[in-house]
Amino acid sequence: RQDLKGRTVAVVGLGISGKAAARLALARGASVVGIDQDESLSSLEHDPSFMVLNSTGFKTVLGNFDWNLLNDADVVVVSPGVPLEKYGLSYLLQSQGKQVMSELDFAAEALPKSVKILAVTGTNGKSTTVTFAGQMLNHFGIDTFVGGNLGTSLSEAAIQHVTSPAQECKLKVAVVEVSSYQMAIPCVYFRSSVSVVLNLTPDHLERHKTMLDYAEHKCRLFSHMTNAKLGLLSFGNQHLDEAVKKYWNKFNPAWIGAFPGLEIDTEAKIATFKVPDIGIESQLQLGSMRAMGKHNYYNAAVAALSVAGLDVSVHIEDINSTIEKLRPPPHRMQVVHKDIHGVTWVDDSKATNVEATYAGLMGLKGQKSVILLGGLAKVLVGQVSNGFEELIEPLTGHRCVITFGASGAMIHQELSGNGLDIPCIQATNLKDAVEQARKVAKHGDAIVLSPACASFDEFRNFEHRGMVFQELALSS
Ligand code: ADP
Repeated sequence: RQDLKGRTVAVVGLGISGKAAARLALARGASVVGIDQDESLSSLEHDPSFMVLNSTGFKTVLGNFDWNLLNDADVVVVSPGVPLEKYGLSYLLQSQGKQVMSELDFAAEALPKSVKILAVTGTNGKSTTVTFAGQMLNHFGIDTFVGGNLGTSLSEAAIQHVTSPAQECKLKVAVVEVSSYQMAIPCVYFRSSVSVVLNLTPDHLERHKTMLDYAEHKCRLFSHMTNAKLGLLSFGNQHLDEAVKKYWNKFNPAWIGAFPGLEIDTEAKIATFKVPDIGIESQLQLGSMRAMGKHNYYNAAVAALSVAGLDVSVHIEDINSTIEKLRPPPHRMQVVHKDIHGVTWVDDSKATNVEATYAGLMGLKGQKSVILLGGLAKVLVGQVSNGFEELIEPLTGHRCVITFGASGAMIHQELSGNGLDIPCIQATNLKDAVEQARKVAKHGDAIVLSPACASFDEFRNFEHRGMVFQELALSS
């Protein structure tokens, strides 16, 4: 990795990953300028994770700033939330001699080459799949980092390594959730042994404008592969097919939903794997899985094939013993409570778009439920989105729908106007929706928060929304 001693790193965007990148830069001996347009943020000097460093090598600039700060820096690290059109970053990116990097790439540069990277992207299921893969690898005692877009930034893994040079790096695998935002700047150092694009449906179109552009960002994962082991991608997606063309010669392709690749018999609960190029022909029994929903069969099977493709001496047959123990991360069809009225409360707050809710509803199978839908619909912030009428079919046969939040009225109208044949109640906010749900739910029903919307009208994020729902559930 390049020596940053005496050099200046500007970090643009001081969210979780920006701060981690700033600490990594300090650990690598650079001086740091942390920049964020949000004046209400507290500066790094007041952040506990910087205060403990006992360092004076950094400063924070909030609000408007002088562009020369970026121009003068040796390296500019851009957080995933910051669009490249801002602050002349696109211009800088093209300037000779200027290093403009994503947080992911900056972190990867500092990791030892021996660490194998499993990178997962897609519209839905990323966090669950990386969590499953991490649980599988941990089960076999393989030292694994799980993070990226989910939870801990990759920079944290790099800090661990940089700050303990005396020790031999024990880390063997980094399972990294990658969002399309993190792929906005092409990577140089981030090289995965296995890359996955789980699925691709309309989302984040406020930033990507077209599905092909979104697909191209996702497929950049395939341009960074080393050892050209395995690239797994969703079968039969026109945009992915188009976007992946230019990377075809870089890896052994396998499909999610066709051979070579994996297919799942959801009735028999068996995943079959055939990837002759890397000598995999095997099956996985999914019957013992406790995580709800058929989509989790896919997430588990993809995790299993990816782990097997990493070449860390774990074979798919061995993974059979881990299936029963797999647990999705919180707020994904999480059963949080069974109350004294015989009602089960399920938190699927992470379902922030229609497809995610669709998958969650499919997973309910015969469980009659009251479904809570609402928040800030993606159609309001993006340009195109799937309509809520897609949910009418999986809602059929349930007890009732309750809509709430900024888009509650619009969702109510879309569902009722398109032939929803179960009752639909319009509530004001989440609390009201829960109160209404309590009134209509019968013994044996579930109350499911699977909102199909972003949370920002009422909450900080989907975790906050989920926690509030869980508190309301437990107070019943
Ligand atoms: P991401 O990290 O991509 O946002 P998560 O694993 O957090 O995805 O899951 C988000 C939501 O998407 C879940 O609540 C679930 O309802 C739905 N989901 C999970 N896996 C899949 C999948 N493979 N296909 C479609 N929807 C899924």
